[in-house]
Amino acid sequence: MQYVIIGGVAAGMSAAMEIYRTDDSAKITVLERGEDYSYGQCGLPYVVNGVIPSIDKVVARTVEQFRDKYGIDARIKTTVTGLDIEKQEVEALDLETEKPLRVPYDRLLIATGSDPIVPNWEGIGLPGIHAFKTMTDTKKLMEDLTDDKKDVTIVGGGYIGLEMAESFNTRGLKVRLIQREPQVAEIFDPEMAKFIQNEAERQGIEIILNESVQSFSGTDKVEEVRTDKASYQTDLVLLAIGVSPNTDFLKKTGIHMLRNGALIVNSYQETSISNIYAAGDCASHYNRVKKMNDHVPLGTTSNKQGRIAGANMAGHTMTFNGIVGTSIIKFCDLTLGRTGLSEKEAKALNLPYEVMASEARTHAGYYPGSEELHLKLLYHKETHKLLGGQIIGKKGVDKRIDVLATALYAGLTTPQLLDLDLGYAPPYNGVWDPIQQMVRKSGLV
Ligand SMILES: Cc1cc2nc3c(=O)[nH]c(=O)nc-3n(C[C@H](O)[C@H](O)[C@H](O)COP(=O)(O)OP(=O)(O)OC[C@H]3O[C@@H](n4cnc5c(N)ncnc54)[C@H](O)[C@@H]3O)c2cc1C
Repeated sequence: MQYVIIGGVAAGMSAAMEIYRTDDSAKITVLERGEDYSYGQCGLPYVVNGVIPSIDKVVARTVEQFRDKYGIDARIKTTVTGLDIEKQEVEALDLETEKPLRVPYDRLLIATGSDPIVPNWEGIGLPGIHAFKTMTDTKKLMEDLTDDKKDVTIVGGGYIGLEMAESFNTRGLKVRLIQREPQVAEIFDPEMAKFIQNEAERQGIEIILNESVQSFSGTDKVEEVRTDKASYQTDLVLLAIGVSPNTDFLKKTGIHMLRNGALIVNSYQETSISNIYAAGDCASHYNRVKKMNDHVPLGTTSNKQGRIAGANMAGHTMTFNGIVGTSIIKFCDLTLGRTGLSEKEAKALNLPYEVMASEARTHAGYYPGSEELHLKLLYHKETHKLLGGQIIGKKGVDKRIDVLATALYAGLTTPQLLDLDLGYAPPYNGVWDPIQQMVRKSGLV
């Protein structure tokens, strides 16, 4: 069986390894347009601020390891340009020789990920304006962060914008973050996002809301950012306004896509064309809470979907049972956790919901070192089933958000949260966990 995988990072190489483990006689070819394989993009902001001392540390396995240890035909600098569905062949271009090539497949996985959106704003091509996604992007950015670069502007206040704001701030740079919307981190509700903004201000990071970047100018490099309301002098710009699935090369195939170009897959990771699978940032992600296909491009989902795609391609049967929309972000001294639906999403889906919110301490007040947690929960007005949760605080966010994510996956109701047998000892928790304290305070039970 000839397996071809397009894209050599999280989803692609999770699939390759699963095929390798499942099918002893597998012939696996991976076509990757870049030079790096199997690395953790999630670690890159911490390479920029030096918390991770060397970029090589984010590489899980090198191209050479895939070739020499696992016998995978792992190619680099090979970009896929189209598919011949009738002949089951991938059309590609060798970027070094500029020669076109065709690679036949029995089973094909599209794991091309997503690219940062780079808008066609005036001056966008000026040196000093960076998109941030790959190891190559990170190396270019770090080369450009010379000592004369003191003032950095980030466009976009989503999780990559926030992580990079922290990263630059730790390097001692003056950071300005411009966000078109009236709040940062739109995956949180506005009153929760306020805690993030307060933390930014406490750290000396300037947050500019309700301004839309329109152009850049400068002589040899970017020197000024213009919005619809003002202009700002700057030494460097980082764009973080979202990502778009890398599926343009498939448009002519008629393969089914979501409106944003993500490939629609079923629970086996199969696309609408036989023998073609998709996984990761370029694919759809069934959302168990919304009960519909969604696009939430995250590393954790890419690895899961890649593994499942690989198993199914190699003849096993595995299903991807969907996401609930969980994410966690470190922003300076805060941890930001969310799962399920925000109020905006619940409204868009016309779901009748109620909210409960509270402040709680991370552990028993009499034991030193407890910190404040801000919690919010959405639940269905009639069934009382949990719909979503948001937690922000300095510590203890990670375990509570994962409790809520597990509860959401299991379809628990809010009163059932009180039944959960959660770990308690004074250094770690209260006798009632903060989530349970919130449910009790709500008077619902
Ligand atoms: C800065 C940053 C921080 C992040 N932090 C987190 C985090 O904390 N938690 C989390 O869960 N997720 C995080 N993510 C998201 C996570 O990294 C991605 O969801 C994950 O890498 C997606 O994996 P993938 O294999 O689907 O796609 P990618 O990692 O994008 O890999 C796709 C590969 O396909 C190649 N490719 C594309 N088109 C072609 C073509 N036509 N021909 C050949 N090759 C092609 C690309 O070069 C690329 O190497 C972060 C991402 C970034 C950028």
